[in-house]
Amino acid sequence: MTLFEKIIAREIPADIVFENDHVLAFRDIHPVAPTHVLVIPKKPIAMLSEATEEDAALLGQVLLGANAVAKTLGLMPGGFRVVVNNGEGAGQTVFHLHAHVIAGRSLTWPPG
Ligand code: 5GP
Repeated sequence: MTLFEKIIAREIPADIVFENDHVLAFRDIHPVAPTHVLVIPKKPIAMLSEATEEDAALLGQVLLGANAVAKTLGLMPGGFRVVVNNGEGAGQTVFHLHAHVIAGRSLTWPPG
Protein backbone atom coordinates (compact mmCIF):
# COMPACT_ATOMS: atom_id res chain seq x y z
CA MET A 1 0.00 0.00 0.00
CA THR A 2 1.45 3.38 -0.96
CA LEU A 3 1.52 6.41 1.29
CA PHE A 4 -1.35 7.96 -0.64
CA GLU A 5 -3.51 4.85 -0.29
CA LYS A 6 -2.95 5.15 3.45
CA ILE A 7 -4.14 8.77 3.28
CA ILE A 8 -7.26 7.66 1.37
CA ALA A 9 -7.85 5.01 4.05
CA ARG A 10 -7.38 7.70 6.76
CA GLU A 11 -4.49 5.69 8.22
CA ILE A 12 -2.26 8.75 7.80
CA PRO A 13 -3.71 12.22 8.52
CA ALA A 14 -3.86 14.86 5.83
CA ASP A 15 -5.23 18.39 5.47
CA ILE A 16 -8.04 17.58 3.05
CA VAL A 17 -9.22 20.40 0.77
CA PHE A 18 -11.67 18.56 -1.50
CA GLU A 19 -13.11 15.09 -1.89
CA ASN A 20 -15.67 13.36 -4.05
CA ASP A 21 -16.34 9.76 -5.12
CA HIS A 22 -13.38 9.78 -7.51
CA VAL A 23 -10.59 11.91 -6.03
CA LEU A 24 -9.09 13.20 -2.82
CA ALA A 25 -7.21 16.51 -2.60
CA PHE A 26 -5.00 17.45 0.33
CA ARG A 27 -2.23 19.92 1.13
CA ASP A 28 1.34 18.84 0.34
CA ILE A 29 3.40 18.29 3.50
CA HIS A 30 6.36 20.17 1.93
CA PRO A 31 4.70 23.02 0.03
CA VAL A 32 6.66 24.74 -2.72
CA ALA A 33 4.21 27.66 -2.81
CA PRO A 34 1.65 29.24 -0.47
CA THR A 35 -0.94 26.93 -2.04
CA HIS A 36 0.28 23.40 -2.86
CA VAL A 37 -2.39 20.72 -3.03
CA LEU A 38 -2.15 17.15 -4.33
CA VAL A 39 -5.09 15.64 -6.22
CA ILE A 40 -5.11 11.85 -6.31
CA PRO A 41 -7.53 9.35 -7.83
CA LYS A 42 -9.06 7.00 -5.27
CA LYS A 43 -8.42 4.13 -7.69
CA PRO A 44 -4.66 3.74 -7.64
CA ILE A 45 -2.59 4.01 -10.81
CA ALA A 46 1.16 4.30 -10.35
CA MET A 47 1.96 6.94 -12.93
CA LEU A 48 0.59 8.73 -15.97
CA SER A 49 2.65 6.65 -18.40
CA GLU A 50 0.81 3.52 -17.22
CA ALA A 51 -2.60 4.99 -18.10
CA THR A 52 -4.66 3.39 -20.86
CA GLU A 53 -7.92 4.25 -22.61
CA GLU A 54 -9.67 2.58 -19.67
CA ASP A 55 -8.31 5.31 -17.42
CA ALA A 56 -9.76 8.18 -19.47
CA ALA A 57 -12.49 8.97 -16.94
CA LEU A 58 -10.07 8.70 -14.01
CA LEU A 59 -7.66 11.15 -15.66
CA GLY A 60 -10.52 13.53 -16.35
CA GLN A 61 -11.61 13.33 -12.73
CA VAL A 62 -8.11 14.29 -11.56
CA LEU A 63 -8.15 17.44 -13.71
CA LEU A 64 -11.70 18.24 -12.61
CA GLY A 65 -10.48 17.70 -9.06
CA ALA A 66 -7.75 20.28 -9.64
CA ASN A 67 -10.42 22.68 -10.86
CA ALA A 68 -12.54 21.95 -7.78
CA VAL A 69 -9.53 22.73 -5.56
CA ALA A 70 -9.07 26.01 -7.42
CA LYS A 71 -12.72 26.91 -6.89
CA THR A 72 -12.68 25.83 -3.23
CA LEU A 73 -9.57 27.90 -2.49
CA GLY A 74 -10.48 30.84 -4.76
CA LEU A 75 -7.37 30.52 -6.93
CA MET A 76 -8.91 32.42 -9.84
CA PRO A 77 -8.41 35.00 -11.27
CA GLY A 78 -4.90 34.83 -9.79
CA GLY A 79 -4.15 31.59 -11.62
CA PHE A 80 -2.70 28.24 -10.72
CA ARG A 81 -0.42 25.58 -12.16
CA VAL A 82 -1.15 21.85 -12.44
CA VAL A 83 1.89 19.55 -12.61
CA VAL A 84 2.26 15.78 -12.95
CA ASN A 85 5.73 14.37 -12.32
CA ASN A 86 6.03 11.10 -14.22
CA GLY A 87 8.86 8.80 -13.19
CA GLU A 88 11.89 9.21 -10.95
CA GLY A 89 13.74 11.24 -13.56
CA ALA A 90 10.96 13.82 -13.46
CA GLY A 91 10.94 13.98 -9.68
CA GLN A 92 8.15 11.52 -8.91
CA THR A 93 8.62 10.11 -5.42
CA VAL A 94 5.20 8.64 -4.63
CA PHE A 95 4.01 6.06 -7.14
CA HIS A 96 0.31 6.77 -6.96
CA LEU A 97 -0.62 9.19 -9.75
CA HIS A 98 -1.15 12.73 -8.47
CA ALA A 99 -1.51 16.24 -9.81
CA HIS A 100 0.16 19.09 -7.94
CA VAL A 101 -1.96 22.28 -7.81
CA ILE A 102 0.39 25.18 -7.11
CA ALA A 103 -0.51 28.84 -6.62
CA GLY A 104 0.00 31.91 -4.51
CA ARG A 105 3.34 33.14 -5.81
CA SER A 106 4.82 34.22 -9.11
CA LEU A 107 5.22 31.13 -11.31
CA THR A 108 7.73 31.53 -14.11
CA TRP A 109 7.78 29.61 -17.38
CA PRO A 110 9.54 27.44 -18.34
CA PRO A 111 9.89 25.78 -14.92
CA GLY A 112 13.39 25.03 -13.65
P1 5GP B 1 6.07 13.74 -6.35
O1 5GP B 1 7.47 14.13 -5.95
O2 5GP B 1 5.90 12.23 -6.36
O3 5GP B 1 5.59 14.38 -7.63
O4 5GP B 1 5.12 14.33 -5.23
C1 5GP B 1 4.93 13.70 -4.00
C2 5GP B 1 4.57 14.77 -3.04
O5 5GP B 1 4.07 14.15 -1.87
C3 5GP B 1 5.75 15.65 -2.60
O6 5GP B 1 5.52 16.99 -2.99
C4 5GP B 1 5.81 15.46 -1.09
O7 5GP B 1 6.10 16.67 -0.40
C5 5GP B 1 4.42 14.96 -0.77
N1 5GP B 1 4.35 14.14 0.41
C6 5GP B 1 5.23 13.14 0.78
N2 5GP B 1 4.82 12.58 1.94
C7 5GP B 1 3.67 13.21 2.31
C8 5GP B 1 2.77 13.03 3.41
O8 5GP B 1 2.94 12.18 4.29
N3 5GP B 1 1.69 13.88 3.45
C9 5GP B 1 1.47 14.81 2.49
N4 5GP B 1 0.38 15.59 2.63
N5 5GP B 1 2.29 15.00 1.43
C10 5GP B 1 3.38 14.19 1.34
